[in-house]
Amino acid sequence: MTEPSAMPSNFIYDAVSADVAAGKRGGRIQTRFPPEPNGYLHIGHAKAIVVDFGVAADFGGICILRLDDTNPETEDTSFVEGIVSDIEWLGYEPADVRYASDYFEQLYTWAEWLIGKGLAYVDDQDGDAISAGRGGYGKPGVDSPYRDRSPEENLALFRRMRAGEFPDGSRVLRAKIDMNHENMQLRDPIMYRIRRAHHHRTGSSWPIYPTYDWAHGQSDAIEGTTHSLCTLEFESHRPLYDWFLDHLDVEDQPRQYEFARLELTHTITSKRRLASLVMDGVVDGWDDPRMPTLRGLRRRGYPPAALRAFCREVGTTRTNSRKAIEELESYVRRDLNANAQRRMAVLRPLKLRLTNWPVDDDGAPVVEYFDITNNPERSDDGTRAVPFTGELWIEQDDFREVPPPKYFRLSPGREVRLRGAFLVTATDVVKDADGNVVEVLATYDPASRGGNAPDGRKVKSTMHWVSAPHAEDATVALYDRLFTAQAPGEATGEPLDDLNPNSRELLTGCKVEPALRDATPGEVVQFERLGYFAADLDTPMLFHRTVGLRDEWAAIQKRS
Ligand code: ATP
Ligand code: MG
Repeated sequence: MTEPSAMPSNFIYDAVSADVAAGKRGGRIQTRFPPEPNGYLHIGHAKAIVVDFGVAADFGGICILRLDDTNPETEDTSFVEGIVSDIEWLGYEPADVRYASDYFEQLYTWAEWLIGKGLAYVDDQDGDAISAGRGGYGKPGVDSPYRDRSPEENLALFRRMRAGEFPDGSRVLRAKIDMNHENMQLRDPIMYRIRRAHHHRTGSSWPIYPTYDWAHGQSDAIEGTTHSLCTLEFESHRPLYDWFLDHLDVEDQPRQYEFARLELTHTITSKRRLASLVMDGVVDGWDDPRMPTLRGLRRRGYPPAALRAFCREVGTTRTNSRKAIEELESYVRRDLNANAQRRMAVLRPLKLRLTNWPVDDDGAPVVEYFDITNNPERSDDGTRAVPFTGELWIEQDDFREVPPPKYFRLSPGREVRLRGAFLVTATDVVKDADGNVVEVLATYDPASRGGNAPDGRKVKSTMHWVSAPHAEDATVALYDRLFTAQAPGEATGEPLDDLNPNSRELLTGCKVEPALRDATPGEVVQFERLGYFAADLDTPMLFHRTVGLRDEWAAIQKRS
């Protein structure tokens, strides 16, 4: 990537720089991004990806994608494929793709080794008894009655667990650490559970599965991870991460560093909860444009470069906080302002008829073509020819029969500019039986070609338009926040209580200029005066509003 990958300096960079300066491991830097394939990636993961891949890239190292597939029930190959393609879309290429399940055999061997050292034991207690025995903060734990089994007995039992001789949940393997440790994570944590479940990669060959704590650090070590970057909730697990590696005599141990999770206002970033939005049909799927998933944001038209820039900017801190979604949107808007081509589209059409528009020799209305700049920010994007004739579509909002104060758009007797075309003056209206205006009549000034007043007279308003005989019909989805509350679920514990029932408004019969027929799937354009809109990835002539034009983030910053 040509963009700077460096993040504002932070404690992770400081730690990595110090290791490099000290010549540790010859300066070799390796990170990993370890998602569990039980859902698709969301905006929070984007931050972790930017940190994991960014740190590696900035120090000339590599980053591996490791699918942390230790919970067979909830995991699925389709999630794996989705994760791989979402990372690629975000703009990163893993040096390798690995799976925690690649290491099941090694993990098992290491577990036997710990048993042999008297550092792990098979516990026959059930889950409730184990958690009760663990005690609590300031409350000592109680030793399991099975804690002092001999290594030989433990080994024999563990082998039988692996052979599938015991029912699910009937026994676990626990590390033998300290039942009175002030850190609960070290009160004999569970390393293996019996679970006869089909695994998406290992099938039914393992009736026992390692826990996160047992799998994670060891997988890091096997791969040669140097800096294992994760979110703050794993901070209390770090002593356990180190304990396992210390007792396995791993050389060049990886080290774990924790950074703050990314949370956004009006947004949830828990895979479990996102999955339930999909399950319950609240949204159309994981890739619904209202979802904070990478596939949702992609369909919505968020440029990956804007996501990367935002994630770098929010940077790496050790304080959890909720960022304003308006800030993310301002990154998206800035990117699109620079890169998106301009088009004209009328979302709620009203007919405008020019009564003095000429006809040709055969009596057919003349068609003019105006060259309109594709992107004023990028002159090399050129112009396009936009057809114009005497029958046009304008926005219903752009006409008032009786204009309220400060309304400068079209009304009877008022002259306005039709962008890049002509000045027009409304003269009359045509109404239906109910008295609704169905057509506005107007005259145009032939001397105002290109929208310039011949005598320099001022018009207060410039409006977009689409030639009616040339217009294409389109469907446009307008989006609002999926959740009305800044912190969904904060008040009641249930985010669904804060669901916005009007998060999507689908407009059919929109009229768009012919060039939009050629929009490529996923292309984002600016509909002049309306906002940025993404062509749907699958359905032609369906557009999703990515963001509006107004920079709400600037307003928020001004207020604070
Ligand atoms: P969820 O709570 O959504 O299920 P998770 O932490 O269980 O998320 P994983 O698939 O285990 O999801 O996460 C992979 C990596 O992404 C982990 O290193 C995790 O710390 C990081 N990550 C997950 N959510 C966020 C977030 N909101 N902000 C930053 N990093 C995150
Ligand atoms: Mg997780």
